[in-house]
Amino acid sequence: FGALQSFDPDIAGVLLSELDRIRSGLQLIASENISSPAVLTALGSTLSNKYAEGYPGRRYYGGCSEVDKAETIAIERAKALFGADHANVQAHSGASANQAVYGAFMSPGDTILAMALPMGGHLTHGTKVSFSGKWFNAVHYGVDATTEDIDYDQVEALAKEHRPKVICAGGSAIPRLIDFARFRAIADEVGAILWVDAAHFIGLVAGKAIPSPVPYADVVTFTTHKVLRGPRSGALVCKAEHAAAMDKAIFPMMQGGPQMHTIAAKAVNFKEAATPEYAKYATDVIANSQQLAASLLELGIRPTTGGTDTHLSLLDLQGVGVTGKEAEERADAAGIVLNKNAIPFDPQKPNIASGIRVGTPSVTTQGMGLEEMKQIASLIHQAVTQGDADPDHAVSKQVRAEVTDLVTRFPAYPR
Ligand code: PLP
Repeated sequence: FGALQSFDPDIAGVLLSELDRIRSGLQLIASENISSPAVLTALGSTLSNKYAEGYPGRRYYGGCSEVDKAETIAIERAKALFGADHANVQAHSGASANQAVYGAFMSPGDTILAMALPMGGHLTHGTKVSFSGKWFNAVHYGVDATTEDIDYDQVEALAKEHRPKVICAGGSAIPRLIDFARFRAIADEVGAILWVDAAHFIGLVAGKAIPSPVPYADVVTFTTHKVLRGPRSGALVCKAEHAAAMDKAIFPMMQGGPQMHTIAAKAVNFKEAATPEYAKYATDVIANSQQLAASLLELGIRPTTGGTDTHLSLLDLQGVGVTGKEAEERADAAGIVLNKNAIPFDPQKPNIASGIRVGTPSVTTQGMGLEEMKQIASLIHQAVTQGDADPDHAVSKQVRAEVTDLVTRFPAYPR
């Protein structure tokens, strides 16, 4: 770090102030986490220098002996961790892994059936602003108006009507477990590929805290940086029969050279995720998430679906008369980092939204437990309902003081 500091104090300063930002606030973004120094060390390594187009033992560049070892270890660990036939660890991100699914199984104009973005899906699941909605015919399912959980009958009806090539299960704001067996049955009924986008919850699967989609899905894509707590990247596992198609879709169809330093960091992460400590962590993430949602409900902020089975909950703010945008700004001013989020059947535009999404991966990594979740619920409630976007507002200051106390007792990257 000394070399960076003397050559480029501007960027060194950003690295330090970002560390300070992480340490000084409550990090409740459901898709973020605090990865280990071991993962960060692999990320910042000389493996970044190496071109390695191709796969271990089949490269288009010389000098790949060492990176081959890293990628082979990463592949074997991913297969063991998820009990999968095949793993590809080269995707640069979750979106790149998802692109590969389209590349492997679909041609432009083919139909995909996936969850609608405003109901909890993801941009890459066929939204118009994404390649997936521009080049493919996307049909979307949503949630049931009463339960606010996935409307499986609608999935089945749409599948029968549109005969999609691929059915996608998974999304960015789904608080409940997904019925993979039901999705598999629907896919089989119409001869579709079942793709599970497990970006959000794969860490809970790795920790054996929730059921795995791997036995059911043709292909499971995921990010490695959310609950899983690895480097910012993507990966996928699939059935043996799709191994060659998925590998070709990642390279050379969608990507060029793999990021070998990130692949090494993924290997480290997969090793971490196979430990008993990580399994306890995954269970704690859910217990904390459930406590946070229950405490918010007691304070009048309703979790959609009535609660959560996972690391995240989606809170409907209509009962307290605050928009998602206002809530995000007020929380931010009080040192609480969370994001506004559309709720199912949201009357507001997406950039205003009626809800917020809160997740417990980061605070659980910091060692916080059920008592702290009760306190965090109270802090969110105070900031959102009585606070202000102005950091100098009395409520912002008062909540921030309590946040400072919490993060001092449970530090991120303890010194
Ligand atoms: N799929 C889902 C369900 C996600 O939630 C995300 C990111 O939040 C992605 C894919 C995309 O991942 P990335 O941001 O790494 O491209």
